[in-house]
Amino acid sequence: MIAGPPRGGPVRFLADPMLRTIELTKRYATGDLALDRVSLEVPRGQVLALIGPSGAGKSTLIRCVNRLVEPTSGRVLLGDTDLTALTRAELRMARRRIGMIFQEYALIERLTVMENVLSGRLGYVGFWASWFRRFPAADLARAFETLERVGLVEFVDKRADALSGGQRQRVGIARALLQNPELLLVDEPTASLDPKTSRQIMRLLVELCGERGLAAVINIHDVVLAQEFAQRVVGLRGGRIVFDGPPGALNAAALTAIYGDEDWSRTAAEEAAARPPRGAVLPDRDRMGALGQ
Ligand code: ADP
Repeated sequence: MIAGPPRGGPVRFLADPMLRTIELTKRYATGDLALDRVSLEVPRGQVLALIGPSGAGKSTLIRCVNRLVEPTSGRVLLGDTDLTALTRAELRMARRRIGMIFQEYALIERLTVMENVLSGRLGYVGFWASWFRRFPAADLARAFETLERVGLVEFVDKRADALSGGQRQRVGIARALLQNPELLLVDEPTASLDPKTSRQIMRLLVELCGERGLAAVINIHDVVLAQEFAQRVVGLRGGRIVFDGPPGALNAAALTAIYGDEDWSRTAAEEAAARPPRGAVLPDRDRMGALGQ
């Protein structure tokens, strides 16, 4: 494993981690080994970006943490609670402590922003109260406060299906926060967003984790965003951790360990400059090559 020099002391073997996976392994029924003895410790307040090529096991790791996917072996600890040892009913209670934020937002389209955000409290209010969507005044006050914090207070009565991608993701974040979680599991939060909105969403997530002391594990395929916003980057390849360090240590050797051989030193602008300009007349032989003949 390639590990860069830690910025603020060692990131491994912390005294009091918020999340700990121990030798977490997942083999699907198809025989695919998606996670191979993954051991990770994430302290309170840390934003960890999980990167790696498609099929590396990022989504499986996130889903094994809250047991949406059942691990084959290994353990997951949330604070002192061993999530892997819980019954279904106990797990439902423990999941309140974990906020999930998805790529596709998972909003209820015909409900308003406020109703979607309050659905984050459904695990807490009783069945009949939630059936009539009667929430305690304290929940309503907190929902307003949270919507204000994520910049959506003027949209409370708007239906979810009338929002932009960035606004929808903010609703997803507010809903997760209303659960009062200790840990955020975030699956490709920016995959459907433009670059500017992606940065705004990442910035918001990082600020919120800092303000509330939340740990976050963010599955993200955009390495530049991961480097810019996360405090720690973990690279997965073939279900194993092949990099674990601060963003500054994510050099060409680390990127090769995670994604395989490539000339990582060339920027997009350099790549473009190296290509012949559009409409350029190629020598005959090259033109034939370019046409695949
Ligand atoms: P990533 O999120 O990094 O793209 P995944 O966790 O989705 O990776 O997948 C890891 C591996 O597990 C891949 O080989 C994938 O084909 C396999 N896999 C994922 N989900 C399933 C499933 N439900 N059934 C069988 N194999 C799966």
